[in-house]
Amino acid sequence: MDLTWSAEEEAFRQDVRAWLRSHVPGSPLPSGDTRHGFAAHLEWERALFEAGWSVVSWPKRFGGRDASLWEWLIFEEEYYRAGAPQRVTQNGIFLLAPTIFEFGTAEQQERILPRMAAAQDLWAQGWSEPGAGSDLAAITSRAVRDDEAGGWRLSGQKTWTTRGAFCTHLFGLFRTDPGAERHRGLTYFLVDLRAPGVEVRGFERLDGDEGFAEVFFDGAFVPDRDVLGEINRGWSVAMATTGSERGLTLRSPGRFVTAADRLAALARSRGAPGGLAERVAQSWIEARAYQLFTLEQVTAVVAGQNPGARSSLNKLYWSELDVRLHETAMDLLGGDGEVDGPWSRGFEFSLAGPIYAGTNEIQRNIIAERLLGLPRV
Ligand SMILES: Cc1cc2nc3c(=O)[nH]c(=O)nc-3n(C[C@H](O)[C@H](O)[C@H](O)COP(=O)(O)OP(=O)(O)OC[C@H]3O[C@@H](n4cnc5c(N)ncnc54)[C@H](O)[C@@H]3O)c2cc1C
Repeated sequence: MDLTWSAEEEAFRQDVRAWLRSHVPGSPLPSGDTRHGFAAHLEWERALFEAGWSVVSWPKRFGGRDASLWEWLIFEEEYYRAGAPQRVTQNGIFLLAPTIFEFGTAEQQERILPRMAAAQDLWAQGWSEPGAGSDLAAITSRAVRDDEAGGWRLSGQKTWTTRGAFCTHLFGLFRTDPGAERHRGLTYFLVDLRAPGVEVRGFERLDGDEGFAEVFFDGAFVPDRDVLGEINRGWSVAMATTGSERGLTLRSPGRFVTAADRLAALARSRGAPGGLAERVAQSWIEARAYQLFTLEQVTAVVAGQNPGARSSLNKLYWSELDVRLHETAMDLLGGDGEVDGPWSRGFEFSLAGPIYAGTNEIQRNIIAERLLGLPRV
């Protein structure tokens, strides 16, 4: 592993930094999980796209700039360092897109990716159901063949769809063969949320965010061209998407390295008595360790290897690091941590990290069984 950047990569970093310096909004945008804040974030996404920064590692013909994975890491580092807005398009560009690159037809790639890059189509993910969370294979939402119309009719309910209330499209698993073994008989569909027979009911979270939604399907039609991968083979397609959510694509190290730097700055400005300095240093070390771990991972990906179940290691590590880091910030802030602000909001959201993208208990099961080869419980 070569830990030095080339002259071209350094030049790329300077370009990113210069653009962000002159374009990142001076004061933070309202939360992208509120209706008002989401609209402001979309304007930002479109500005990123116009300047060619929305999906740097994609091919130019889909709206990217053909950047290498290394350059993408640099982009991410600079993005977080600049304090740029959260990516409300993340479920599309970071989760669905890698799956479309791997499993999509050329027609699907040409049709879907440019609109996603330009934030014209906004994607939510539809896995969870009232009776299927950790046990995702328990999905009961169904898709029934409609030969005459050339597609499928969906029925059932999805829940906990992040920003579903604001999105135009949803990707998700539906049962196409109820007679098959649980993990078989599932198919991956790309659904237009504005289609007849789809009802999106948004609801507020305790923290005031209003993007969460339940999505109901009652005979909604999906044409054949919006099936991703093979019929009844959706489980392995979905596992590619969850791998992106657990791993590097969604959680690049830039996010944590920047948070750890900010934590150290907070400790310097307020003082860190009673063992707090050690916890600050520990978080900083853990963020750097995650960075090194991901550099090794990118080296393997560039060499053609797929991280597979190893993305569960990322997920465990970044989610627990994020909780510890924010707990330390809250202890540094003392009573001031009660006031609504970036640290308190970050702390609240960090608590969701061990739950979304598959709970950490499930990640431990995957690591035990698939990486360590231990017997199933
Ligand atoms: C902020 C946030 C955003 C989310 N966004 C989305 C989204 O956009 N789309 C979507 O589809 N879903 C989303 N989810 C849902 C998320 O994927 C589920 O909450 C998660 O998979 C857990 O499922 P559950 O809530 O049904 O809990 P359960 O599956 O009921 O689990 C309850 C508890 O039991 C434990 N448990 C369950 N089975 C096992 C086992 N076999 N071994 C050990 N422990 C076990 C779990 O770890 C957990 O602690 C989101 C969740 C959160 C918190």
